[in-house]
Amino acid sequence: MISRFEKEILVAHALGLTRAQLIAKRTDELDAALYQPLLDRRAKHEPTAYIVGYQPFWGLDFIVDRSVLIPRPETELLVEKVIESYSHYLPAGRHGALPVTRISMADIGTGSGCIAITLAKNLPNVTVIGVDSSKEALKIAQKNAEYHGVADRCRFITGDMLEEFTTKAPRRQETQKLDIIVSNPPYIPTEVIETLEPEVKDWEPRQALDGGKDGLNYIRKLIVNAPNHLSIYPSGSLFLEIGFHQGPAVIELAEQTGRYSDIKIVKDLNGQDRIFTARVK
Ligand code: GLN
Repeated sequence: MISRFEKEILVAHALGLTRAQLIAKRTDELDAALYQPLLDRRAKHEPTAYIVGYQPFWGLDFIVDRSVLIPRPETELLVEKVIESYSHYLPAGRHGALPVTRISMADIGTGSGCIAITLAKNLPNVTVIGVDSSKEALKIAQKNAEYHGVADRCRFITGDMLEEFTTKAPRRQETQKLDIIVSNPPYIPTEVIETLEPEVKDWEPRQALDGGKDGLNYIRKLIVNAPNHLSIYPSGSLFLEIGFHQGPAVIELAEQTGRYSDIKIVKDLNGQDRIFTARVK
């Protein structure tokens, strides 16, 4: 069943109207030949965001296609936690003053770029490097950065997670230390994917969802490697979105490294574990 809300979005999109304009029209004024194909696509479980080509996130519209995960409301909590931590990176006594330092962030598995771009847009002296293994995804992220006017402070590079930031990497500019590493990595256990709704399992990119046998493949790598790339002063932070059942395992992984302090799990609005945050020691 398609909700009335989604139906309105699709019909309005097909007819080039806003939702408000659509609601003001009588049904017999609408040309079904224009909008019916879109409803047919939705009936085959294609997500509305792919049909209309955008998805709202943090009050901004992000361009999406099948090469990127559709931004989720849960991920707004991840962005919120990064924004809350921001004053830690400003020089003492300068809070609220004009931007004076550059705060460098990396968004690992940037996809549509929704995290990187929202942060760049809300935090003026931040520069973000978005990394993704998919060149197709990075094209979308670049378009989004341009659309939102932050392309000068967002750079998108293909790569394998944090590999691009090691001193061995040929691109020397990537070897600087980072103040913040943020990621919404694939974290769904492989065998759970088949149980998800068709909108997700049949339409969204598998590589953006599949976190391996226990769902922790990417999270594990990020927790182990992030301290090598985070600045020590002011102490850099790692922010991760995690699965609702993964809190205890993720805390244990972080504690085992012995390299973090202030390890925290933040719960989402449903009271489920959702965000991991920690500072490097
Ligand atoms: N960073 C993107 C998002 O949060 C993509 C994440 C992913 O592909 N796992 O939507």
